[in-house]
Order: sequence, then structure tokens, then C-alpha cells
Amino acid sequence: RQMCIRDRDMAILDILHFPDTRLRNVAKPVAQVDASVRQLIDDMFETMYAAPGIGLAAVQVNDLRRVIVVDTSEDRSQALALVNPEIIAKQGEETMDEGCLSVPGVYETVQRAEQIRFRALDRDGNAIEKDVDGLLAVCIQHEIDHLDGKLFVDYLSNLKRQRIRKKLEKDARQGGDKTQRRRAI
Ligand code: ZN
Repeated sequence: RQMCIRDRDMAILDILHFPDTRLRNVAKPVAQVDASVRQLIDDMFETMYAAPGIGLAAVQVNDLRRVIVVDTSEDRSQALALVNPEIIAKQGEETMDEGCLSVPGVYETVQRAEQIRFRALDRDGNAIEKDVDGLLAVCIQHEIDHLDGKLFVDYLSNLKRQRIRKKLEKDARQGGDKTQRRRAI
């Protein structure tokens, strides 16, 4: 990931947990990729790596800008920050076991497109367009859902979602078990 001069240290942000209704907010497009957007990106990477996770959307840290960060590598070598990301083409089907930093400890199978083409602005405000597949494609689809107030549990049955909601509400009452068994999106 690109290093930069910062005017303050990076911060680990609080991640909202399902069923927090703020996760249903729809994020707004970023007009300009300025220093405050770059600070948000840096803080989101810090928060995602600490969790540990492979993706994070600004909505999950209660910021309503259309910003996501992802890194599906094992060694933090593929950091990708996307501003105003949009999927412009989809192909194929892929089912994967997904987790989410906002739904800790829960992993369920979700079906998504296998390949996507996305468009976004990078950390420097440059327009990028790229074809990706596999885990990275799943991760980007999952994160863009967050920007639209959508969670992976929405793809599950009502019964399953209610069960997850009860489990997380119970965990929260008991002080919250925030440990991730596996890296989550
Ligand atoms: Zn998520």
C-alpha cells in the first residue's frame, strides 16, 4: 500500500454490528477525493487489518461516503481503496462462504457473480476500470452492497436471519464476543 505523509496517526474505528439500523443507511457519492477522504481510507485499512478482515465499507464505520477498502492477500500486499465503486458488468455464478465484520462469528453461503467489471476512483482520485473474479469479485460485491445498506444476511432465509439476529443480540448483552474465527469481509 502506498505510504503517505499524514497529519495524524491512523485510528481504529468502531465497526457497527447487525442489527444496528445505521447499517441500512445508503452512502452518498464522494464529490472530490481530498485529504479527508484519504484519511478515511487510511483509518479504514487500519480498522480492517486489525479486525482482521479482507474488506470494509465506510457505512460499517458509520461514515456515509461511498468508500470501500479490500485486501484479499495473506500478507497485506493487495490493498485496494475504491471511491464511488460501481459494477458495470457481471458474469457467471459463484457460491462462497461469506462472513462480515458487522456480523461477527457468522458464516453462510451466498451466491454472487463470478466475474465483475468495476469502475471507481482510486486513492488519488484517478478513474480506474478493472475486471476481477473469484474472492476479490465476491468481496467487492459484498462491500458495494454495504454502501447500499444491504448485508449478506439479506440473501438468507428470514428464519436464518432471525436466528443470527438473536445470537448477535445475545452476544451484545453479554459484552460482545468480537473475536473473528476467520477473516471476514
Ligand atoms: Zn460486510
